[in-house]
Amino acid sequence: MKPISEIYPLLKQPAKAVITMHQKPDADAMGSALALFHFLTKLGFEVTVISPTNWANWLNWMPGCKLVINFENNRQKTAELLDQAQYLFCLDFNIFHRTKNLAPKLSEADCVKVLIDHHEEPDMASFDYGISNAAKSSTAEMIYDLIVESGNAHLIDTNIAECIYAGVISDTGSFRFASTTASVHEMVAKLKQTGFNHSKVYNNLFDNFMENRLRFIGHVLTNRLEFLYEYNTALVHVSKHDLVKYEIKTGDTEGIVNIPQAVQDIKLVGMVVDRDEERKWSFRSKGDFDCNTFARKYFNGGGHFNASGGNSKDSLQDTIEKFKLAIKENEHFLQ
Ligand code: 5GP
Ligand code: MN
Repeated sequence: MKPISEIYPLLKQPAKAVITMHQKPDADAMGSALALFHFLTKLGFEVTVISPTNWANWLNWMPGCKLVINFENNRQKTAELLDQAQYLFCLDFNIFHRTKNLAPKLSEADCVKVLIDHHEEPDMASFDYGISNAAKSSTAEMIYDLIVESGNAHLIDTNIAECIYAGVISDTGSFRFASTTASVHEMVAKLKQTGFNHSKVYNNLFDNFMENRLRFIGHVLTNRLEFLYEYNTALVHVSKHDLVKYEIKTGDTEGIVNIPQAVQDIKLVGMVVDRDEERKWSFRSKGDFDCNTFARKYFNGGGHFNASGGNSKDSLQDTIEKFKLAIKENEHFLQ
C-alpha cells in the first residue's frame, strides 16, 4: 500500500469513484463517506456512496445520505458502479470481510483501491494507496486531513463540516476518549469557521430517537445488566424477545454499551445482542485493557484498543458463559 499523499496529484484528474464503509455504518462511517463524497464531487468526480447494508434511520439527516445506495437492495446497480469505477475508497474498516456480502465484489473490483481507516491490524495487501492510523480519533478526522493536506481546505463547506463533526463526536464519545488530541480541537475550530451549526448535529445524533428506544434502555439497565465486580466488568445481554418487544431497529442498540462505564471502577463492558444470524458483541474499556486483542482472541472480531466488537455462532447462554470464562482468564488485566 503506497502512502495516501501519492493520490493527491491524481485528484486533479476527475474520475468515477465509489466510496464504501463497514456494514451497519455508524456516524463515523457514514459521516466520513459523505464528507469525502461532497469533497470529491466538488473536485468534479462522479461519486457514489455504497453501504454494504442498511443503516440507522437517525443518520438520514446527514447531507447526501438520501443518495447512498444500500448494496443489499441494489446488487445489480452496485456491480455496474464498481465495474465503471476508477477508484474505490474504503472508509472506517480495513479488511474486506467487514463489509459482509459486499466483500467478494470489493476484492474482485478492478480499480485503484484506497484505504482510509483508524482500526488496528489493516490488511494492507488489499489496497493500492492509503492511510491506516489507529491513533486517529475517527475516520472523519482523516478525511479532514486528506482535504487539507491535498491543498483543498478552501473547499470545506457546511455540508462537509457537518459530516466530519458527526463522525468525530460519535467516535470520541463527544470529545471524551483519549484519542481526542489537540489537533482534533484545532480541526473543530476550523470547521466552526464555515458557520455550521454544531448543536444541530448533536441534536440530530443524540436527541433523535423514538420513545421505544428510551423504554428499551430502561428495561436493559434494570433487567439485563450484571456487574461482575470481582473483574471490574459489566455485562449486558439483549435477547431476541427484547428486540421484538421493543421494536428495536438497526442503530437502536448503539451507545448502550457505554452506559455502564459510568459506574465506579468498571474497566470493561461487554454487551451481546442475540441477532438472527449471530450473537453480536460490543466491548468498551477504560485505561489499559486491550479490547481489540480480547475481541480477536475470543469473539472472532477486532477494532480499537478501548472499543471493539465481535460475533459468535454459539447460543446466547453459551456465548455469555464464554465471556465469563474469558474475563476470568484476563483477571490480571482487569485489576
Ligand atoms: P461497535 O461496538 O460500536 O459495533 O464497534 C466498536 C468498534 O469495533 C468499531 O470501530 C467497529 O468498527 C469495530 N468492530 C465491531 N465489530 C467488529 C467485528 O466483528 N470485527 C472487527 N474487526 N471490528 C469490529
Ligand atoms: Mn470509526
